[in-house]
Amino acid sequence: MIKPTGFTTRIIHTPYAKEDANRALHQPIYSNAAFDFESAEQMEMAFQGRLPVHTYSRISNPTVENLELRIKQITGALNVTALSSGMAAVSNVIFMLASTGSNIIASKHLFGNTLVFFESTIKDFGIEARFCDLTNEEEIKSNIDANTVAIFVETITNPQLEVVDLKHLAHTAHSQSIPLIADTTLTPPNVFTAKDFGIDLEVISSTKSISGGGTSVGGLIIDYGIFDWSKSKKLAPLAKRFGPYAFNYKLRREVFRNLGACLSPFAAYLQSLGLETLQLRFEKAANNCRELAEYLLSLPQVKQVNYPGIKGSEFYTISKQQFGRFPGAMLTFDFSTKEECFTFMNNLELIRRATNVYDNKTLILHPASTIYCDFDRDKRESLHVRETMLRLSLGIEDLEDLKSDLEQALSKL
Ligand SMILES: *Cc1c(COP(=O)(O)O)cnc(C)c1O
Repeated sequence: MIKPTGFTTRIIHTPYAKEDANRALHQPIYSNAAFDFESAEQMEMAFQGRLPVHTYSRISNPTVENLELRIKQITGALNVTALSSGMAAVSNVIFMLASTGSNIIASKHLFGNTLVFFESTIKDFGIEARFCDLTNEEEIKSNIDANTVAIFVETITNPQLEVVDLKHLAHTAHSQSIPLIADTTLTPPNVFTAKDFGIDLEVISSTKSISGGGTSVGGLIIDYGIFDWSKSKKLAPLAKRFGPYAFNYKLRREVFRNLGACLSPFAAYLQSLGLETLQLRFEKAANNCRELAEYLLSLPQVKQVNYPGIKGSEFYTISKQQFGRFPGAMLTFDFSTKEECFTFMNNLELIRRATNVYDNKTLILHPASTIYCDFDRDKRESLHVRETMLRLSLGIEDLEDLKSDLEQALSKL
């Protein structure tokens, strides 16, 4: 019996949890809420968790489970939970580990909604986010105390595109008995294997590349089962009973089901389908990104180009070590003024003005006036969100067409 080793083969040939009654080659969409039981005894066992069956689709569902199994297969995780969005994954993870009085260490360089969740939403529950430079070990250590429950990092920050040494960060976290959570949305599992870098919990917005390119909103929590949960104040009692499964037990039997942010079976179907072509699409988009970064660099009107995959980037070497040949498919570049940015955007004919990343279509936006419009100028500057900067997320179009669009938009500047 061949044991598939390739990324895409493993996804496509992940067995269903149970054989399908009709031998359907794609996992059918189970769009039902409840599941039937043969007897009261069986129902009791299912509710106690002693029978591995589905009871109600907010808690688990066969179509969603199939997506979870595929992610488990390619990541080598102990447990995977699919949720309704990337933000649901982020918020569930934090509510799992933190209580009133806890603190979390993170960089300020975060996805916009995650930043506001940390600065404001959890603050209302008495949970503090301590922002520090995650490239500075001393600063991290001096912020950690007995109430620190996690370090949270994004593998490539958006839109700064900063990359930290993740093995080193994991070592720092573990030396203080703290788990490392990484949002790896910008480095999908075909280019980045979180487990090899000591990441304990991975969160992903599957809305992005996994969905097939912006087909639906979804999120994932990937639990590697490596962290010793007896070191977590909140999970220590469960760690005695469940060992490495302590996190998953509380997540599935309490936090995830009670917050109710489950993924719809239809979205799970789309995302499972998207996952099958992830590698093909992402490599093309990342290649487009590198080529266009080089092209933009050669233009006199462009003041700077930021992409970890070009030699001039201060993150080139570390990105190559961590993400190989495809360090993301998003770049930023600067003109001299905001007006130039707007004119350029308005001149584009093929590239779309939209706020998503890793769609199949190439998307552009001006971060300062959109995602960061609620922040004042000083705050934006402290986040390195410049008025003169544009963010370009590469799709899978043919390179020559993208180049032509950039060329014609520039010629009219
Ligand atoms: C989009 C995104 C999120 C949030 O995901 P949603 O699916 O939109 O909720 C979180 N982190 C990163 C890095 C993202 O790009």
